[in-house]
Amino acid sequence: MIVTSRWPAVRVPDVPLPDHLLRAADERPDAPAVIDAATGRTVTYAQLRRDVRRCAVGLRRRGMRPGDVLAIVAPNSPEWLVACLGAMSAGGIVSGINPLYTAEEIAPQLRDNGARFLLTIPPFLPVVRAAAAGADIDVMVLGEAEGATPFAEVLTDGELPGGLVDPATDLALLPYSSGTTGLPKGVMLTHRAMVTNIEQMRAVMAPRPDDRAMAVAPFFHAVGLVVVAGVTLRAGGTIVTLPRFEVDAYLAAIEEHRVTVSVVVPPIILAMARHPAVARHDLSSLRLLGSGAAPLAAELQQECAARVGCPVGQGYGMTEAVAAIALFDASVPVVPGAVGELLPGVEARIVDVMTGADLGTGETGELLVRGPNLMRGYLGNPEATAATIDAEGWLHTGDLARFDAGGNLFVDDRLKELVKVKGLQVAPAELEAVLRAHPAVADAAVIPVPDERAGERPKAVVVAAGPVATAEIVAFVADRVAPHKRITEVAFVDAIPVSPSGKILRRLLVAQDRAGALPA
Ligand code: AMP
Repeated sequence: MIVTSRWPAVRVPDVPLPDHLLRAADERPDAPAVIDAATGRTVTYAQLRRDVRRCAVGLRRRGMRPGDVLAIVAPNSPEWLVACLGAMSAGGIVSGINPLYTAEEIAPQLRDNGARFLLTIPPFLPVVRAAAAGADIDVMVLGEAEGATPFAEVLTDGELPGGLVDPATDLALLPYSSGTTGLPKGVMLTHRAMVTNIEQMRAVMAPRPDDRAMAVAPFFHAVGLVVVAGVTLRAGGTIVTLPRFEVDAYLAAIEEHRVTVSVVVPPIILAMARHPAVARHDLSSLRLLGSGAAPLAAELQQECAARVGCPVGQGYGMTEAVAAIALFDASVPVVPGAVGELLPGVEARIVDVMTGADLGTGETGELLVRGPNLMRGYLGNPEATAATIDAEGWLHTGDLARFDAGGNLFVDDRLKELVKVKGLQVAPAELEAVLRAHPAVADAAVIPVPDERAGERPKAVVVAAGPVATAEIVAFVADRVAPHKRITEVAFVDAIPVSPSGKILRRLLVAQDRAGALPA
Protein backbone atom coordinates (compact mmCIF):
# COMPACT_ATOMS: atom_id res chain seq x y z
CA MET A 1 0.00 0.00 0.00
CA ILE A 2 1.36 3.40 -0.96
CA VAL A 3 0.58 6.17 1.54
CA THR A 4 0.37 9.66 0.04
CA SER A 5 0.28 13.16 1.47
CA ARG A 6 -3.00 14.92 2.18
CA TRP A 7 -1.56 18.17 0.78
CA PRO A 8 -1.44 18.84 -2.98
CA ALA A 9 2.02 18.86 -4.58
CA VAL A 10 3.83 22.18 -4.25
CA ARG A 11 4.97 24.46 -7.07
CA VAL A 12 8.75 24.53 -7.25
CA PRO A 13 10.31 27.57 -8.90
CA ASP A 14 13.32 26.99 -11.17
CA VAL A 15 15.77 29.14 -9.19
CA PRO A 16 19.00 28.61 -7.28
CA LEU A 17 18.52 28.18 -3.51
CA PRO A 18 19.99 31.60 -2.52
CA ASP A 19 17.62 33.48 -4.86
CA HIS A 20 14.73 31.54 -3.40
CA LEU A 21 15.68 32.34 0.18
CA LEU A 22 16.37 36.02 -0.43
CA ARG A 23 13.09 36.96 -2.08
CA ALA A 24 12.12 38.98 0.97
CA ALA A 25 14.98 41.38 0.17
CA ASP A 26 12.71 42.87 -2.52
CA GLU A 27 9.53 43.02 -0.47
CA ARG A 28 10.93 43.82 2.97
CA PRO A 29 14.53 45.06 2.52
CA ASP A 30 14.75 46.61 5.98
CA ALA A 31 13.22 43.68 7.86
CA PRO A 32 15.67 41.80 10.11
CA ALA A 33 16.83 38.57 8.43
CA VAL A 34 19.35 37.39 11.02
CA ILE A 35 20.05 38.43 14.59
CA ASP A 36 23.28 37.18 16.16
CA ALA A 37 22.23 36.40 19.75
CA ALA A 38 25.90 36.25 20.78
CA THR A 39 26.45 39.95 19.92
CA GLY A 40 22.95 41.39 19.39
CA ARG A 41 23.90 42.45 15.83
CA THR A 42 21.08 42.53 13.27
CA VAL A 43 21.45 41.87 9.54
CA THR A 44 18.56 43.09 7.37
CA TYR A 45 17.38 41.31 4.24
CA ALA A 46 18.95 44.01 2.04
CA GLN A 47 22.28 43.64 3.87
CA LEU A 48 22.14 39.87 3.72
CA ARG A 49 21.48 39.88 -0.03
CA ARG A 50 24.27 42.41 -0.60
CA ASP A 51 26.78 40.39 1.46
CA VAL A 52 25.80 37.11 -0.18
CA ARG A 53 26.45 38.69 -3.55
CA ARG A 54 29.74 40.24 -2.38
CA CYS A 55 30.79 36.88 -1.01
CA ALA A 56 30.00 35.20 -4.35
CA VAL A 57 32.00 37.84 -6.25
CA GLY A 58 34.89 37.56 -3.77
CA LEU A 59 35.00 33.78 -3.90
CA ARG A 60 35.08 33.91 -7.71
CA ARG A 61 37.98 36.35 -7.54
CA ARG A 62 39.76 33.82 -5.34
CA GLY A 63 39.23 31.21 -8.02
CA MET A 64 35.98 29.50 -7.08
CA ARG A 65 34.37 27.85 -10.09
CA PRO A 66 31.02 26.04 -10.34
CA GLY A 67 31.28 22.67 -8.62
CA ASP A 68 34.04 23.74 -6.21
CA VAL A 69 33.44 22.82 -2.57
CA LEU A 70 33.49 25.24 0.36
CA ALA A 71 33.78 23.49 3.73
CA ILE A 72 32.42 25.47 6.68
CA VAL A 73 33.80 24.46 10.08
CA ALA A 74 32.20 27.05 12.36
CA PRO A 75 29.43 27.50 14.91
CA ASN A 76 26.18 29.21 13.88
CA SER A 77 26.46 32.91 13.05
CA PRO A 78 25.06 35.27 10.39
CA GLU A 79 28.36 34.88 8.48
CA TRP A 80 27.81 31.13 8.21
CA LEU A 81 24.73 31.92 6.13
CA VAL A 82 26.48 34.65 4.12
CA ALA A 83 29.31 32.26 3.22
CA CYS A 84 26.92 29.39 2.49
CA LEU A 85 24.55 31.35 0.24
CA GLY A 86 27.47 33.27 -1.29
CA ALA A 87 29.30 30.10 -2.32
CA MET A 88 26.07 28.61 -3.68
CA SER A 89 25.43 31.78 -5.71
CA ALA A 90 28.87 31.36 -7.28
CA GLY A 91 27.97 27.80 -8.26
CA GLY A 92 29.90 26.33 -5.35
CA ILE A 93 28.84 23.40 -3.18
CA VAL A 94 28.74 23.84 0.60
CA SER A 95 29.77 21.11 3.02
CA GLY A 96 29.14 21.98 6.67
CA ILE A 97 31.31 20.19 9.21
CA ASN A 98 30.79 19.92 12.98
CA PRO A 99 33.32 22.41 14.42
CA LEU A 100 33.95 20.09 17.36
CA TYR A 101 35.34 17.42 15.04
CA THR A 102 38.97 16.37 15.46
CA ALA A 103 41.48 16.61 12.61
CA GLU A 104 41.11 12.83 12.12
CA GLU A 105 37.37 13.29 11.54
CA ILE A 106 37.61 16.36 9.28
CA ALA A 107 40.43 15.07 7.04
CA PRO A 108 38.49 12.21 5.40
CA GLN A 109 35.64 14.56 4.47
CA LEU A 110 38.00 17.10 2.90
CA ARG A 111 39.75 14.30 1.00
CA ASP A 112 36.44 12.82 -0.11
CA ASN A 113 34.98 16.03 -1.50
CA GLY A 114 38.22 17.70 -2.58
CA ALA A 115 37.24 20.97 -0.87
CA ARG A 116 39.16 23.93 -2.32
CA PHE A 117 37.89 26.53 0.16
CA LEU A 118 37.36 26.39 3.90
CA LEU A 119 35.89 28.83 6.39
CA THR A 120 36.48 28.53 10.12
CA ILE A 121 36.96 30.62 13.29
CA PRO A 122 40.36 31.29 14.91
CA PRO A 123 40.11 28.76 17.78
CA PHE A 124 39.59 25.91 15.30
CA LEU A 125 42.44 26.87 12.96
CA PRO A 126 45.04 24.45 14.40
CA VAL A 127 42.69 21.48 14.01
CA VAL A 128 41.58 22.59 10.56
CA ARG A 129 45.19 23.09 9.45
CA ALA A 130 46.10 19.60 10.64
CA ALA A 131 43.09 18.18 8.79
CA ALA A 132 43.92 20.07 5.59
CA ALA A 133 47.67 19.30 5.69
CA GLY A 134 48.98 18.56 2.23
CA ALA A 135 45.79 19.68 0.48
CA ASP A 136 45.54 22.84 -1.61
CA ILE A 137 42.81 24.61 0.38
CA ASP A 138 42.18 28.36 0.64
CA VAL A 139 41.55 28.83 4.38
CA MET A 140 39.43 31.83 5.42
CA VAL A 141 38.61 32.85 8.94
CA LEU A 142 35.83 34.81 10.66
CA GLY A 143 37.76 37.49 12.54
CA GLU A 144 41.53 37.53 12.23
CA ALA A 145 44.33 35.00 12.58
CA GLU A 146 47.92 34.53 11.38
CA GLY A 147 48.17 33.11 7.91
CA ALA A 148 44.43 32.94 7.10
CA THR A 149 42.40 35.37 5.00
CA PRO A 150 39.84 37.32 7.06
CA PHE A 151 36.39 36.53 5.65
CA ALA A 152 35.54 40.25 5.72
CA GLU A 153 38.26 40.82 3.12
CA VAL A 154 36.77 38.21 0.82
CA LEU A 155 33.54 40.20 0.39
CA THR A 156 33.97 42.26 -2.79
CA ASP A 157 31.69 44.55 -4.78
CA GLY A 158 31.40 43.68 -8.44
CA GLU A 159 29.47 41.92 -11.14
CA LEU A 160 28.27 38.37 -10.70
CA PRO A 161 27.71 36.64 -14.05
CA GLY A 162 24.33 34.96 -14.53
CA GLY A 163 23.80 31.31 -15.36
CA LEU A 164 26.33 29.94 -12.87
CA VAL A 165 23.78 27.46 -11.51
CA ASP A 166 21.43 25.00 -13.18
CA PRO A 167 19.04 24.42 -10.24
CA ALA A 168 17.77 21.07 -11.54
CA THR A 169 21.14 19.36 -11.75
CA ASP A 170 23.77 21.35 -9.86
CA LEU A 171 24.63 20.48 -6.29
CA ALA A 172 24.15 23.08 -3.55
CA LEU A 173 24.91 21.12 -0.39
CA LEU A 174 27.07 18.14 0.48
CA PRO A 175 26.37 17.09 4.07
CA TYR A 176 27.76 13.78 5.38
CA SER A 177 25.64 10.88 6.54
CA SER A 178 26.38 7.22 7.12
CA GLY A 179 22.89 6.32 5.87
CA THR A 180 21.94 2.78 6.77
CA THR A 181 25.47 1.35 7.01
CA GLY A 182 29.20 2.01 6.88
CA LEU A 183 31.15 5.24 7.05
CA PRO A 184 29.87 8.81 6.54
CA LYS A 185 29.25 9.55 2.86
CA GLY A 186 28.73 12.83 0.99
CA VAL A 187 25.00 13.34 0.33
CA MET A 188 24.51 15.09 -3.03
CA LEU A 189 21.68 17.62 -2.75
CA THR A 190 20.74 19.80 -5.73
CA HIS A 191 19.41 23.35 -5.55
CA ARG A 192 16.11 21.93 -6.84
CA ALA A 193 15.83 19.29 -4.11
CA MET A 194 16.50 21.91 -1.45
CA VAL A 195 14.03 24.45 -2.83
CA THR A 196 11.49 21.62 -3.08
CA ASN A 197 11.92 20.51 0.53
CA ILE A 198 11.61 24.09 1.78
CA GLU A 199 8.38 24.53 -0.22
CA GLN A 200 7.07 21.19 1.07
CA MET A 201 7.74 22.24 4.66
CA ARG A 202 6.29 25.69 4.15
CA ALA A 203 3.01 24.16 2.97
CA VAL A 204 2.66 22.34 6.30
CA MET A 205 4.37 24.66 8.78
CA ALA A 206 2.91 27.92 7.47
CA PRO A 207 5.79 30.09 8.76
CA ARG A 208 4.98 33.80 9.11
CA PRO A 209 6.94 36.94 8.20
CA ASP A 210 6.74 38.05 11.83
CA ASP A 211 8.23 34.77 13.06
CA ARG A 212 11.49 34.84 14.96
CA ALA A 213 13.04 31.41 14.74
CA MET A 214 15.84 30.28 17.02
CA ALA A 215 18.76 28.77 15.12
CA VAL A 216 20.33 26.72 17.89
CA ALA A 217 20.41 23.51 15.85
CA PRO A 218 23.73 23.63 14.00
CA PHE A 219 23.84 24.81 10.38
CA PHE A 220 25.99 21.79 9.43
CA HIS A 221 22.86 19.66 10.01
CA ALA A 222 19.60 19.71 8.06
CA VAL A 223 17.51 20.85 11.02
CA GLY A 224 19.53 24.04 11.50
CA LEU A 225 20.21 24.98 7.90
CA VAL A 226 17.04 23.85 6.13
CA VAL A 227 14.19 23.50 8.63
CA VAL A 228 15.13 26.61 10.62
CA ALA A 229 17.15 28.93 8.37
CA GLY A 230 15.72 27.94 4.99
CA VAL A 231 12.05 27.93 5.92
CA THR A 232 12.30 31.13 7.99
CA LEU A 233 14.18 33.16 5.37
CA ARG A 234 11.83 32.05 2.60
CA ALA A 235 8.93 33.32 4.72
CA GLY A 236 10.65 36.66 5.32
CA GLY A 237 10.99 35.98 9.04
CA THR A 238 13.95 36.48 11.35
CA ILE A 239 16.55 33.92 12.39
CA VAL A 240 18.19 34.29 15.79
CA THR A 241 21.55 32.50 15.70
CA LEU A 242 23.08 30.90 18.80
CA PRO A 243 26.59 29.47 18.52
CA ARG A 244 25.90 26.54 20.87
CA PHE A 245 23.23 25.19 23.21
CA GLU A 246 23.62 26.27 26.79
CA VAL A 247 20.35 26.31 28.67
CA ASP A 248 20.50 29.79 30.20
CA ALA A 249 21.77 31.48 27.04
CA TYR A 250 19.08 29.72 25.02
CA LEU A 251 16.27 30.76 27.36
CA ALA A 252 17.62 34.32 27.65
CA ALA A 253 17.76 34.61 23.85
CA ILE A 254 14.14 33.48 23.53
CA GLU A 255 13.11 36.09 26.08
CA GLU A 256 15.25 38.94 24.74
CA HIS A 257 14.46 38.45 21.05
CA ARG A 258 10.83 37.41 21.55
CA VAL A 259 11.42 34.15 19.69
CA THR A 260 8.21 32.62 18.31
CA VAL A 261 9.40 29.29 16.90
CA SER A 262 12.17 26.92 17.94
CA VAL A 263 12.87 23.63 16.20
CA VAL A 264 15.27 21.60 18.29
CA VAL A 265 16.50 18.11 19.10
CA PRO A 266 14.89 16.03 21.91
CA PRO A 267 17.50 16.86 24.61
CA ILE A 268 16.40 20.51 24.41
CA ILE A 269 12.75 19.46 24.76
CA LEU A 270 13.87 17.56 27.89
CA ALA A 271 15.54 20.70 29.23
CA MET A 272 12.44 22.79 28.45
CA ALA A 273 10.28 20.25 30.30
CA ARG A 274 12.43 19.78 33.40
CA HIS A 275 15.20 22.35 33.83
CA PRO A 276 14.69 24.74 36.78
CA ALA A 277 16.01 27.69 34.73
CA VAL A 278 12.87 27.58 32.55
CA ALA A 279 10.86 29.10 35.42
CA ARG A 280 13.15 32.13 35.51
CA HIS A 281 12.43 33.25 31.94
CA ASP A 282 9.49 34.73 30.09
CA LEU A 283 8.86 32.33 27.22
CA SER A 284 5.40 33.69 26.36
CA SER A 285 6.53 34.74 22.86
CA LEU A 286 6.83 31.07 21.77
CA ARG A 287 3.98 29.97 19.53
CA LEU A 288 5.42 26.56 18.78
CA LEU A 289 8.25 24.19 19.52
CA GLY A 290 9.31 21.50 17.08
CA SER A 291 11.43 18.43 17.74
CA GLY A 292 13.21 16.23 15.23
CA ALA A 293 16.33 14.26 14.33
CA ALA A 294 15.82 11.64 17.05
CA PRO A 295 13.02 9.90 18.97
CA LEU A 296 10.95 11.89 21.48
CA ALA A 297 8.60 10.07 23.86
CA ALA A 298 4.94 11.17 23.78
CA GLU A 299 4.93 11.73 27.56
CA LEU A 300 7.91 14.08 27.46
CA GLN A 301 6.42 15.90 24.48
CA GLN A 302 3.21 16.55 26.46
CA GLU A 303 5.08 17.44 29.64
CA CYS A 304 7.07 20.07 27.73
CA ALA A 305 3.96 21.51 26.04
CA ALA A 306 2.17 21.80 29.39
CA ARG A 307 5.09 23.60 30.99
CA VAL A 308 5.98 25.97 28.15
CA GLY A 309 2.38 26.63 27.18
CA CYS A 310 2.67 26.14 23.40
CA PRO A 311 2.22 23.13 21.11
CA VAL A 312 5.23 20.80 20.84
CA GLY A 313 5.17 18.90 17.55
CA GLN A 314 7.52 16.46 15.86
CA GLY A 315 9.07 16.17 12.44
CA TYR A 316 10.92 13.29 10.87
CA GLY A 317 13.52 13.40 8.19
CA MET A 318 16.87 12.34 6.87
CA THR A 319 19.86 14.07 5.35
CA GLU A 320 19.25 11.88 2.26
CA ALA A 321 15.85 13.61 1.82
CA VAL A 322 17.38 17.11 2.28
CA ALA A 323 15.76 17.56 5.70
CA ALA A 324 12.12 16.64 6.29
CA ILE A 325 9.92 13.77 5.17
CA ALA A 326 7.02 14.23 7.62
CA LEU A 327 5.97 17.15 9.82
CA PHE A 328 3.27 17.97 12.32
CA ASP A 329 0.53 20.30 11.12
CA ALA A 330 0.49 23.28 13.47
CA SER A 331 -3.08 24.18 12.52
CA VAL A 332 -4.58 21.07 14.14
CA PRO A 333 -4.08 19.54 17.62
CA VAL A 334 -0.77 17.71 17.98
CA VAL A 335 -0.87 13.90 18.03
CA PRO A 336 1.59 13.02 20.83
CA GLY A 337 4.26 10.53 19.80
CA ALA A 338 3.59 10.95 16.08
CA VAL A 339 6.42 12.36 13.96
CA GLY A 340 3.96 14.11 11.67
CA GLU A 341 2.25 13.53 8.34
CA LEU A 342 3.89 13.05 4.94
CA LEU A 343 4.95 16.26 3.23
CA PRO A 344 3.26 17.16 -0.09
CA GLY A 345 4.62 15.08 -2.97
CA VAL A 346 6.12 12.43 -0.67
CA GLU A 347 4.94 8.83 -0.98
CA ALA A 348 5.64 6.11 1.55
CA ARG A 349 5.42 2.37 2.02
CA ILE A 350 5.83 0.22 5.11
CA VAL A 351 7.35 -3.13 4.22
CA ASP A 352 8.03 -6.38 6.04
CA VAL A 353 11.73 -6.48 6.90
CA MET A 354 12.15 -10.16 6.02
CA THR A 355 9.94 -10.50 2.93
CA GLY A 356 9.73 -6.94 1.58
CA ALA A 357 5.94 -7.35 1.34
CA ASP A 358 3.81 -4.25 1.85
CA LEU A 359 2.19 -3.94 5.27
CA GLY A 360 -1.08 -2.23 6.18
CA THR A 361 -2.22 0.57 8.45
CA GLY A 362 -1.03 0.17 12.02
CA GLU A 363 1.62 -2.44 11.14
CA THR A 364 5.29 -1.73 11.83
CA GLY A 365 7.92 -2.37 9.17
CA GLU A 366 10.70 -0.59 7.31
CA LEU A 367 9.70 2.83 6.00
CA LEU A 368 10.42 3.49 2.32
CA VAL A 369 9.88 6.97 0.90
CA ARG A 370 9.86 8.47 -2.58
CA GLY A 371 9.62 12.10 -3.65
CA PRO A 372 11.16 15.10 -5.38
CA ASN A 373 13.29 15.99 -2.35
CA LEU A 374 15.62 13.00 -2.36
CA MET A 375 19.38 13.16 -2.80
CA ARG A 376 20.97 12.48 -6.15
CA GLY A 377 23.10 9.85 -4.45
CA TYR A 378 26.24 9.46 -2.35
CA LEU A 379 29.32 11.20 -3.74
CA GLY A 380 31.55 8.75 -5.58
CA ASN A 381 29.70 5.75 -4.17
CA PRO A 382 27.20 4.27 -6.66
CA GLU A 383 27.05 0.97 -4.71
CA ALA A 384 25.90 2.68 -1.51
CA THR A 385 23.49 4.82 -3.56
CA ALA A 386 21.96 1.74 -5.22
CA ALA A 387 21.67 0.01 -1.84
CA THR A 388 19.74 3.01 -0.46
CA ILE A 389 17.54 4.20 -3.34
CA ASP A 390 16.16 1.27 -5.34
CA ALA A 391 15.43 1.12 -9.07
CA GLU A 392 11.88 2.43 -8.52
CA GLY A 393 13.12 5.45 -6.61
CA TRP A 394 12.26 4.26 -3.08
CA LEU A 395 14.64 5.44 -0.38
CA HIS A 396 15.10 2.69 2.21
CA THR A 397 15.21 4.68 5.45
CA GLY A 398 16.40 1.93 7.80
CA ASP A 399 13.73 3.09 10.25
CA LEU A 400 10.93 0.91 11.60
CA ALA A 401 7.69 2.84 11.46
CA ARG A 402 3.92 2.65 11.06
CA PHE A 403 1.02 4.85 9.96
CA ASP A 404 -2.24 5.18 11.86
CA ALA A 405 -5.58 5.50 10.06
CA GLY A 406 -5.29 9.29 10.11
CA GLY A 407 -2.00 9.30 8.19
CA ASN A 408 0.12 10.04 11.26
CA LEU A 409 3.56 8.48 11.11
CA PHE A 410 5.14 6.84 14.17
CA VAL A 411 8.81 5.80 14.31
CA ASP A 412 9.05 2.72 16.55
CA ASP A 413 12.67 1.65 16.23
CA ARG A 414 15.74 1.77 14.04
CA LEU A 415 16.88 -1.07 11.81
CA LYS A 416 20.05 0.59 10.54
CA GLU A 417 23.31 0.67 12.43
CA LEU A 418 23.22 4.36 13.34
CA VAL A 419 23.62 5.77 16.86
CA LYS A 420 21.96 9.17 17.42
CA VAL A 421 23.51 11.29 20.16
CA LYS A 422 21.73 14.60 20.81
CA GLY A 423 20.29 14.30 17.30
CA LEU A 424 23.75 13.95 15.75
CA GLN A 425 24.89 10.93 13.82
CA VAL A 426 27.48 8.54 15.17
CA ALA A 427 28.39 5.88 12.61
CA PRO A 428 29.28 2.62 14.41
CA ALA A 429 31.63 1.66 11.56
CA GLU A 430 33.67 4.81 12.18
CA LEU A 431 34.08 4.14 15.91
CA GLU A 432 34.79 0.46 15.25
CA ALA A 433 37.71 1.50 13.02
CA VAL A 434 39.02 3.75 15.80
CA LEU A 435 38.70 0.95 18.35
CA ARG A 436 40.43 -1.60 16.12
CA ALA A 437 43.39 0.78 15.81
CA HIS A 438 44.13 0.21 19.51
CA PRO A 439 46.88 -2.46 19.81
CA ALA A 440 45.02 -4.34 22.54
CA VAL A 441 41.74 -4.54 20.60
CA ALA A 442 41.37 -7.59 18.34
CA ASP A 443 37.82 -6.82 17.23
CA ALA A 444 35.05 -4.39 18.12
CA ALA A 445 31.41 -3.54 17.55
CA VAL A 446 29.55 -0.38 18.52
CA ILE A 447 25.90 -0.32 19.56
CA PRO A 448 23.51 2.35 20.88
CA VAL A 449 22.51 2.37 24.55
CA PRO A 450 19.73 4.59 25.93
CA ASP A 451 20.78 7.79 27.68
CA GLU A 452 18.29 10.08 29.37
CA ARG A 453 20.00 13.31 28.39
CA ALA A 454 21.48 12.50 24.97
CA GLY A 455 18.83 10.02 23.79
CA GLU A 456 21.49 7.43 22.99
CA ARG A 457 25.20 6.90 23.53
CA PRO A 458 27.60 4.59 21.72
CA LYS A 459 28.78 1.55 23.67
CA ALA A 460 31.80 -0.51 22.64
CA VAL A 461 31.75 -4.28 22.57
CA VAL A 462 35.37 -5.37 22.43
CA VAL A 463 37.39 -8.52 21.95
CA ALA A 464 40.67 -7.84 23.75
CA ALA A 465 43.96 -8.98 22.23
CA GLY A 466 45.70 -8.54 25.58
CA PRO A 467 45.19 -6.93 28.95
CA VAL A 468 43.51 -3.54 28.58
CA ALA A 469 41.45 -1.46 30.99
CA THR A 470 38.10 0.13 30.10
CA ALA A 471 39.52 3.55 31.02
CA GLU A 472 42.30 3.16 28.48
CA ILE A 473 39.89 2.36 25.65
CA VAL A 474 37.62 5.23 26.68
CA ALA A 475 40.56 7.66 26.65
CA PHE A 476 41.92 6.29 23.35
CA VAL A 477 38.60 6.97 21.61
CA ALA A 478 38.12 10.36 23.33
CA ASP A 479 41.44 11.58 21.93
CA ARG A 480 40.35 10.88 18.38
CA VAL A 481 36.67 11.84 18.07
CA ALA A 482 34.26 14.73 18.73
CA PRO A 483 32.72 14.83 22.24
CA HIS A 484 29.34 13.42 21.17
CA LYS A 485 31.01 10.27 19.76
CA ARG A 486 32.90 9.41 22.94
CA ILE A 487 32.36 6.00 24.45
CA THR A 488 31.57 5.68 28.13
CA GLU A 489 30.88 1.95 28.39
CA VAL A 490 32.87 -1.04 27.20
CA ALA A 491 31.77 -4.68 27.30
CA PHE A 492 34.44 -7.35 26.82
CA VAL A 493 33.39 -10.47 24.91
CA ASP A 494 35.16 -13.50 23.43
CA ALA A 495 33.89 -12.94 19.89
CA ILE A 496 31.77 -10.43 17.97
CA PRO A 497 28.76 -12.27 16.49
CA VAL A 498 28.66 -12.03 12.69
CA SER A 499 26.27 -13.22 9.98
CA PRO A 500 27.35 -15.86 7.43
CA SER A 501 28.31 -12.99 5.11
CA GLY A 502 30.53 -11.47 7.80
CA LYS A 503 28.27 -8.57 8.88
CA ILE A 504 28.27 -7.68 12.56
CA LEU A 505 24.99 -8.75 14.16
CA ARG A 506 24.46 -5.45 15.94
CA ARG A 507 20.80 -6.03 16.68
CA LEU A 508 21.71 -9.26 18.46
CA LEU A 509 24.22 -7.33 20.55
CA VAL A 510 21.62 -4.65 21.28
CA ALA A 511 19.14 -7.35 22.39
CA GLN A 512 21.79 -8.96 24.60
CA ASP A 513 22.66 -5.59 26.09
CA ARG A 514 19.01 -4.74 26.81
CA ALA A 515 18.65 -8.13 28.49
CA GLY A 516 21.71 -7.40 30.65
CA ALA A 517 23.56 -10.30 29.01
CA LEU A 518 26.65 -8.33 27.96
CA PRO A 519 29.41 -8.25 30.57
CA ALA A 520 30.33 -4.80 31.92
P1 AMP B 1 19.94 12.58 9.91
O1 AMP B 1 20.26 12.20 8.52
O2 AMP B 1 21.13 12.92 10.73
O3 AMP B 1 18.89 13.64 10.00
O4 AMP B 1 19.35 11.27 10.60
C1 AMP B 1 18.15 10.69 10.12
C2 AMP B 1 17.67 9.65 11.09
O5 AMP B 1 17.37 10.24 12.35
C3 AMP B 1 16.39 9.00 10.68
O6 AMP B 1 16.57 8.00 9.70
C4 AMP B 1 15.89 8.45 12.00
O7 AMP B 1 16.56 7.25 12.35
C5 AMP B 1 16.29 9.54 12.96
N1 AMP B 1 15.17 10.47 13.17
C6 AMP B 1 14.97 11.66 12.58
N2 AMP B 1 13.84 12.25 13.04
C7 AMP B 1 13.30 11.41 13.94
C8 AMP B 1 12.13 11.42 14.77
N3 AMP B 1 11.30 12.45 14.77
N4 AMP B 1 11.90 10.35 15.55
C9 AMP B 1 12.74 9.29 15.56
N5 AMP B 1 13.86 9.22 14.83
C10 AMP B 1 14.14 10.26 14.01
